Amino acid sequence: MVEQKSIVLLVDDQKTVHMIIKKLLSSAPDIELHSCFDGTLAVQCAEELQPTVILQDIHVDEVNGLDLLDCYRANKATAQLSVIILSAMEDVESKAEAFERGADDYLVKMPHPVELIARVRHHSKAYRNHLERNAAVKELECERAKLSKANLELKRLSSMDGLTNIANRRCFDTTLEREWRRALRQAEPLSLIMIDVDHFKLFNDGYGHQAGDDCLKAVALALAHIVNRPADLLARYGGEEFVALLPHTDVDGALTIAEAMRSSIEGLQLPHAYSTSGHVVAVSLGLASIVPTAEDSAAALIKAADEALYRAKDTGRNRIVSSQC
Ligand code: GH3
Ligand code: MG
Ligand code: MG
Repeated sequence: MVEQKSIVLLVDDQKTVHMIIKKLLSSAPDIELHSCFDGTLAVQCAEELQPTVILQDIHVDEVNGLDLLDCYRANKATAQLSVIILSAMEDVESKAEAFERGADDYLVKMPHPVELIARVRHHSKAYRNHLERNAAVKELECERAKLSKANLELKRLSSMDGLTNIANRRCFDTTLEREWRRALRQAEPLSLIMIDVDHFKLFNDGYGHQAGDDCLKAVALALAHIVNRPADLLARYGGEEFVALLPHTDVDGALTIAEAMRSSIEGLQLPHAYSTSGHVVAVSLGLASIVPTAEDSAAALIKAADEALYRAKDTGRNRIVSSQC
């Protein structure tokens, strides 16, 4: 098996120690030795070199090797490095203190080359494994973040109508179900307005499908400006039909919104030369309002709004008909 290179930074003020350690490591071509003689430069040296192991003398001139350990740990670039304390002291207390302060290992000067090489290789490998694990975790987190962003976007797209950029039928169905249950629980009114473009087939036939699409976009945008309470929902119900769901809104409140919608679409003054009931694009609206009880159903609310819409069409279009469930 090919050993990966170990990069050792020896921090010691004694030139002879450097010479001896160099000799001790000479039989290990996979270990590259670098020297730092000045304790005050040790962190900077380690930061630049990025060794896999630091061999740290316990006293580097005036600098305490264990204090240096704190400095390595406090610096982001050197915090995770493997540090082996090199000391002449053999007593258990000295060793215990070094380990307590965060040393990864402790070697008594001068170790046997077999021991030194084995420890250096072991700690280098541990450090490298640690780096690899960190990189893998980082990549995983990055992928996870991308996935959750993509999921959010997917969720947004799956509830949106592609042409008009308002909520789609599916979103309406789930919202209605939720708001129905809430209104039932809280004995609150819930209103629904069905909005249908008048003589839209004639518009399409006369101006073409592309102009029809543009018209639907303009109508949706105008309606969206009116339905703007946080709990309100405007959705494309299908074709040229829209629906507004208005929680906590009674029939009078819904009538005000419906009239604002009707006049806003008329106010767009989109020419409709092919209409048999006016000269501009207009909408008919069917409104139903209810304070739900256990005997009622959301389907009945839709049906009531639909029937009211039919009556609005039947009685001349560009108008609102309301039905109290
Ligand atoms: P009414 O006043 O009774 O509502 O008559 P209408 O012509 O509006 O109603 P009808 O249901 O007969 O026709 C609806 C038309 O809407 C027919 C269909 O081609 C058109 N339509 C439905 N969806 C779209 C769409 O996404 N884009 C375009 N351009 N037209 C659409
Ligand atoms: Mg229509
Ligand atoms: Mg229709």
